Amino acid sequence: MVSENQLRKAKKTVETGGVVMVEKDLIWNVRGTNDSYRIKKNDDEYVCEKLDQDDSVFEICKGWINCKGALKDKTCSHIEAVKLFELLEAKKTEEPNESHYLKKLGIRELSDN
Ligand SMILES: [Zn+2]
Repeated sequence: MVSENQLRKAKKTVETGGVVMVEKDLIWNVRGTNDSYRIKKNDDEYVCEKLDQDDSVFEICKGWINCKGALKDKTCSHIEAVKLFELLEAKKTEEPNESHYLKKLGIRELSDN
């Protein structure tokens, strides 16, 4: 289950341009606070890998490992950032109202503190 803290981090990552699509619907790079992560999607399952400085896989994201539940339910702030990024990309042609998208996602508005 995604926590409110993860959602807040995810939103901030997207807002600061920290998500880059590498391969459409398959691979994204996400810039974390200090590190870079690579998110891979296979069907509806996401995996998050922490990258070394030369962009090789360093280890599996700890947030992802620590997330309880079935494989398809596992998530972390980086994966949530990708989901939010994709949602915004898909809706770009429509009315650009962020809170509208967040409500659609079932995310309640995050307080700024
Ligand atoms: Zn992660």
